[in-house]
Amino acid sequence: MKKIFLLLFGFTLLFASCKTQKTDSVTAPRPPNEVEKNTSKSTYWQQHVDYTMEIDMDVNSYQYQGKQTLVYTNNSPDVLTNVYYHLYFNAFQPGSEMDVRSLTIPDPDGRVADRISKLQPDEIGYIKVSSLTQDGISIKHETVGTILEVELAKPIQPGESVTFNMVFNAQVPIQIRRSGRNNKEGVALSMAQWYPKLAEYDFEGWHADPYIGREFFGVWGDFDVTLTIDKNYVIGGTGYLQNPNEIGHGYETGAVNRPDGDKLTWHFLAPNVHDFTWAADPDYIHDKMQVPNGPMLHFYYKNTLDAEKKDNWKKLQPKTVELMEYYSEHIGKYPYNQYSVIQGGDGGMEYGMCTLIVGEGNFEGLFGVTAHEMAHSWFQFVLASNESKHSWMDEGFTQYISSLAENDILNKNIENPTKGAYGGYVFLAKSGKEQPLTTHSDRYNFNQTYSISAYYKGYVFLAQLGYVIGEENQKETIKSYFNDFKFKHPRPLDVIRTAEKISGLELDWYLTDWTQTTNTVDYAVKSIDGNSVTLERIGLMPMPIDIAVTYKDGSTENFYIPLQMMRGEKPTTATVIKDWAWAYPTYTFKPSKPISSVQIDPKEMMADINRDNNKM
Ligand SMILES: [Zn+2]
Repeated sequence: MKKIFLLLFGFTLLFASCKTQKTDSVTAPRPPNEVEKNTSKSTYWQQHVDYTMEIDMDVNSYQYQGKQTLVYTNNSPDVLTNVYYHLYFNAFQPGSEMDVRSLTIPDPDGRVADRISKLQPDEIGYIKVSSLTQDGISIKHETVGTILEVELAKPIQPGESVTFNMVFNAQVPIQIRRSGRNNKEGVALSMAQWYPKLAEYDFEGWHADPYIGREFFGVWGDFDVTLTIDKNYVIGGTGYLQNPNEIGHGYETGAVNRPDGDKLTWHFLAPNVHDFTWAADPDYIHDKMQVPNGPMLHFYYKNTLDAEKKDNWKKLQPKTVELMEYYSEHIGKYPYNQYSVIQGGDGGMEYGMCTLIVGEGNFEGLFGVTAHEMAHSWFQFVLASNESKHSWMDEGFTQYISSLAENDILNKNIENPTKGAYGGYVFLAKSGKEQPLTTHSDRYNFNQTYSISAYYKGYVFLAQLGYVIGEENQKETIKSYFNDFKFKHPRPLDVIRTAEKISGLELDWYLTDWTQTTNTVDYAVKSIDGNSVTLERIGLMPMPIDIAVTYKDGSTENFYIPLQMMRGEKPTTATVIKDWAWAYPTYTFKPSKPISSVQIDPKEMMADINRDNNKM
């Protein structure tokens, strides 16, 4: 529980205004048979962005000037007449949706609480766009909260690329959450979601979700970013530094030769990412450690930390190498040459090729946050699912794999490391507050409901999949899912179709019941009569059944009852008996010998909300 409440106790957005644009490339109606033949409608596509940004930061006023050139390629089959940018920093203003939601939700995140409402004009965040052109022509744009609404001068045709040129100025807010300046750990600049960022347009239309405090979704592309800042500041973040010997600060590969002046200009390139994040502080220590056959790891933490905390950061480094190796082995090879762990001073959040985390905890806390955030490099940064819509796909899967990695790397030898997550989910299922996992991240009634749903119910989805299709099939599903959907925007169906292809089993029911309903699993042993056992299905959600029988002679036997709608069985060494069709409330089977006791799901891998009735 600790990690959830520490890390992720989040926010909520109220009225997301996803503007759906249904402009079609087809101008004249076509006969139905021709429409059916148009396979472009069902073929996967994704938009593409290439950003070039020049930023000049004033570390005294915390204001910065920006120039942005954005080449946008419309790979969709649709004609676009509008585009939308996120201006996330505008959330940190009194009266913003983020502020009001925090003031009105029953269980506000203590780190936000009423702090936004009290920000003074020189403490708020903002991004002000002063000019915007499309292929050189000035275009109409309006800032509405955290979204810039843009009316195009000329529609963008399918397959067409256009260039947007923007000039903007901005102010870094006092850190409320994730981003901002001068946080409680004294980090000067945590620059996440800091630039005008084009909203994603996909098969579901626009995702110009206002920022109310939770979750992101971006467009894949290449970033070329130059940051000009006071020469004493050390920067870590997304992207490869192009001019290390002009910079020094631990990046140099030879003699450092800095240009004259009070400022340095850092030049970064980040290919094939969907975000660009950085942090800067004059007191950062910058360490590096090479992962064998893997990326270079960079660590940035404050030189003002006390000796014990600095020592934690030293101890973290070889363990981070192990984490990188664990995830690369169990999910798929990390696809970049660099990863940075940066003291950002607030919580922990995943970004492209890096993470910003709190830096003052004990060693286990520091390692736990790093384990979680680094796993996000796979589940969200490379498998870029829509966090707002399917938070369980990134938070749940991340929490699952990182709990296994922690258990392995810290030699905890916990027999069942999944137990806590199952317990969290069961607590929620019985609380009466559960909402389906299809709920938008901002639309949960309680922050706690969001957190348990995304982190634990999402975790159990993947852990329990191992129960349903067999552990080897589940492991293969994870790897195959990564390999097939890396650098894309996978959806829930992509996970379950992968599992179906690997296992040969029908699993649509599993995705539907687990993510689109609050149906629960509850199976029970109803009676034992001599050598006859009767089971009962109490919950609505179907499941195949593992069951262990102990005979009166002391011997034991494991049985497996397939779920009829799966049209097959998982690989098992248990005795496979006749299948159970879901609608039948009871099921009776007769082992060959007199029975002493029986237990449903002895490994506790099924998320049964009442285990008291599993044994007799
Ligand atoms: Zn997370």
